[in-house]
Amino acid sequence: MLQENLENIKKNLPDHVTLVAVSKTKPESDIQEVYDAGQRILGENKVQEMADKWKNLPKDIQWHMIGHVQRNKVKYMIDFVALIHGVDSFRLLKEINKRAKKADRTVDCLLQVHIAEEDTKFGLDKKELDEIVTSEEFQKFKNVNIKGLMGMATFTNDKDQVRREFKQLKFLFDDLKIKLPKINILSMGMSGDYKIAIEEGSTMVRIGSSIFGSRNPN
Ligand SMILES: *Cc1c(COP(=O)(O)O)cnc(C)c1O
Repeated sequence: MLQENLENIKKNLPDHVTLVAVSKTKPESDIQEVYDAGQRILGENKVQEMADKWKNLPKDIQWHMIGHVQRNKVKYMIDFVALIHGVDSFRLLKEINKRAKKADRTVDCLLQVHIAEEDTKFGLDKKELDEIVTSEEFQKFKNVNIKGLMGMATFTNDKDQVRREFKQLKFLFDDLKIKLPKINILSMGMSGDYKIAIEEGSTMVRIGSSIFGSRNPN
C-alpha cells in the first residue's frame, strides 16, 4: 500500500525535484516500509520524535526537520539531522551554529519565509530575511550552511492564491541567490499543493498524507 502511494507520487515528480516523505505521527514500521521501497529522505516536525526514530531505524536515512524548532531542542538532533527546513529566526540559526560547532559538523539549513496570508504559520518576512543574510555575524557562521528557502502556502482551495504565494517565495529565492549564489533548494509543496509548487519552481516537496495516509489529529 505505502509502496504504491510512494510510486504514485514519484511518478509525478520531475528529476530535479527531491521528495521528503513526511512521516510525523506515523509508526516506525511504516517508515521501514517506505525505506524498503527505496525512500531515504524522511521528514519529521518534532525533534524528540525524530530522535527516537533515528535511534531505531537504518542509519542511512536522511532526517529532515520540517517543523518549528525551539532553541532548547537543537542539541537533541544536531548529531544526525540532514537538513533543518524551519529556521525562522536569527537566534535559532545562532544556536544551530553553536551546537554544530560543538558536534564538529556543518549543518545544512533552509530559512523559512512566511508567505501565507493566514498568520498561523511561522516564518521570516522579507525584511527579516535580508537582515539575517546581510548581518556581519551571519557571515562569520562557519557551522551552518544555508541551502535555500522553505515556505508553506495558505491552506485553502483557492489555487490562484496558493500559486501567488509560491510565486512570491520563488521571487525571494531568486533574489537571495544574488547574495548567496550557492543556494539550490526551494522547499515548497505538500500533498495538496505540490503540483502547483513544482510549476512555480519548487526543487523539494514535503509529502505526508498522500504517502502514509491521513494523520490522527493530536
Ligand atoms: C505535515 C507537514 C507536511 C506534509 O503535509 P501533508 O499535507 O500530509 O503532505 C509538509 N510540510 C510541513 C512543514 C508539515 O508540517
